[in-house]
Amino acid sequence: MNSPEPQVETLVDLDAIAHNVRILIRHAGEAAVMVVVKADGYNHGAAEVAKAALAAGAREIGVTTVAEAVALRQAGITAPILCWLNTSDVDYANAVAHDIEIAVSSVAHLEAVAAAARATGRTAIVTLKVDTGLNRNGASPTEYPQVLDLLKQLVEAGTVRFRAIFSHLALADEPQHPANDMQRARFLEYVATAKEYGLEPELVHLANSAAALTRPDLAFDMVRPGIAVYGLSPVPEISDFGLRPAMTFRARVVLVKRVAAGEGVSYGHEWVAERDTTVALVPAGYADGVLRPLSGRIDIGLRGKRYPNVGRVCMDQLVVDLGENPDDIREGDHAVLFGGNEGDPHPQEWADLLGTIHYEVVCSPHGRTVRTHIGGAA
Ligand SMILES: *Cc1c(COP(=O)(O)O)cnc(C)c1O
Repeated sequence: MNSPEPQVETLVDLDAIAHNVRILIRHAGEAAVMVVVKADGYNHGAAEVAKAALAAGAREIGVTTVAEAVALRQAGITAPILCWLNTSDVDYANAVAHDIEIAVSSVAHLEAVAAAARATGRTAIVTLKVDTGLNRNGASPTEYPQVLDLLKQLVEAGTVRFRAIFSHLALADEPQHPANDMQRARFLEYVATAKEYGLEPELVHLANSAAALTRPDLAFDMVRPGIAVYGLSPVPEISDFGLRPAMTFRARVVLVKRVAAGEGVSYGHEWVAERDTTVALVPAGYADGVLRPLSGRIDIGLRGKRYPNVGRVCMDQLVVDLGENPDDIREGDHAVLFGGNEGDPHPQEWADLLGTIHYEVVCSPHGRTVRTHIGGAA
């Protein structure tokens, strides 16, 4: 009761998630939308995001591991859940017991899933992951016939239900790149080969966010967006598609004080005040996800305006130059590190400064950061 607001927090707006899902549904046309909530929903909270997305019309959920999938079932999600990145010795029995759809990329994976089905006395739901050119996960063309042989036996024995075939694109963020067409062609070959074995998938899917928004010809039966659900454009140079960033990363000012001209600020004195000034101390540092290479390069949002971070970002804190503090910033005010509101620093700005992508930026807040969901049914 009456506990103070967290000093450093992420606010995740479930209304923004719902808005973004509706945009994806419009782009998907006839195809269903599977919302990808791996890595704890790209650090937005997997269960909360999944529920908001399903309420907005998404049909299925995608994650990487069995543990992520089972946690969503335990959180009360009854929609289909697919997981696609597990070693053969994972607890597949737990997945089968929870009706989790399991993607297999090899004979070894499929044998392990079959053993789990026999052990639990339940039918396992299997999806084939095929490698169409990303050369990462997925069955390769050389191993594919053995996988199909085994799958056919297991389907005939009633050990597994064959749900889908899917693959993942390598250059979807370059929508016109010929690799996308090559992967599409190879994908169709894999599907045709399965049919030659008498294996008819219930559905096939290929598109991530970038393809879902730019390549309707790759939608097939379902699209699998991740980043766009969270409101970040996979192709920012093309469009923002009306998406709304769902995450705000912010901290509360702990101290406002004057610093005299000629004084150095923060470790190493890399910034020296040229004039008497006012600074605000923000209790968020690299231990919370404000990466140190951002030192002295980012702006912080305070009362709707942007002020520069000065000096090094430390483990727990950073300093902001307020000048003569015209807006009367005070202890307790919210300092926005990045967010989705008009005027907020955008995760893309951090990505540009860091030479990375906004996916990594929204995955950064951690440590003392407290996550709170707003909007939706939160
Ligand atoms: C992460 C992932 C997605 C979602 O990708 P986005 O670029 O975030 O839309 C889709 N499919 C697979 C297999 C993935 O690993």
